[in-house]
Amino acid sequence: MMGGCAAPPTGKPAPKATPEELSDRRSAYERELDHLAKNPASAPKVEKLWRGETREKLISLSFDDGPRPEWIEKLLTILKANDVKATFYLVGKMVKLNPDQARKIAADGHEIGNHSYSHPNLSKVSDQDVLEEILAAQNTIRSVTGVTPVTMRPPGGNISQAVLAANRKAGLVAIEGTTPAQLTTRKFDPPPQWSPADGGYVGLLH
Ligand SMILES: [Zn+2]
Repeated sequence: MMGGCAAPPTGKPAPKATPEELSDRRSAYERELDHLAKNPASAPKVEKLWRGETREKLISLSFDDGPRPEWIEKLLTILKANDVKATFYLVGKMVKLNPDQARKIAADGHEIGNHSYSHPNLSKVSDQDVLEEILAAQNTIRSVTGVTPVTMRPPGGNISQAVLAANRKAGLVAIEGTTPAQLTTRKFDPPPQWSPADGGYVGLLH
């Protein structure tokens, strides 16, 4: 299914994180700060991308919000049967809940990206929460899979200055998708002009 991330219905606030979730996020964030103090991340060359840097007619597949046990095994089997590698934008707390599935994604050679720790709208939380969300996801993904993500997709495509600042600290590049809906609804500066003939399409799937 193509489209943006699942967002709470308009008018209804997102469910509040439980005290336990907040404490998990906080401890993963603090571990990541320790890690960064010992292994500073190098600043990415670009801050955000919405398509691949290629004119070749190549498509990049990316799957958000996992690992979801209800479909991940089936999806990994299909990808392997077709010799396709994809990028999985994983949610930190989902990785914690489904560590075997997260490790299977890494073992199959797919790229793993950061999709925040608990999937909030990062443009609606404090700068400190943005930093905690991104660094806690980074720490959880690395400690479970052994992979340090180099790209980050904010939930709902909500890139803000706080997201870019946190990403710089973690050495992450923000990634959108090249979907027609995003090209018309997201605010880009400048708005991207893209046609399928340009190549480098980043498909965003769930
Ligand atoms: Zn999402």
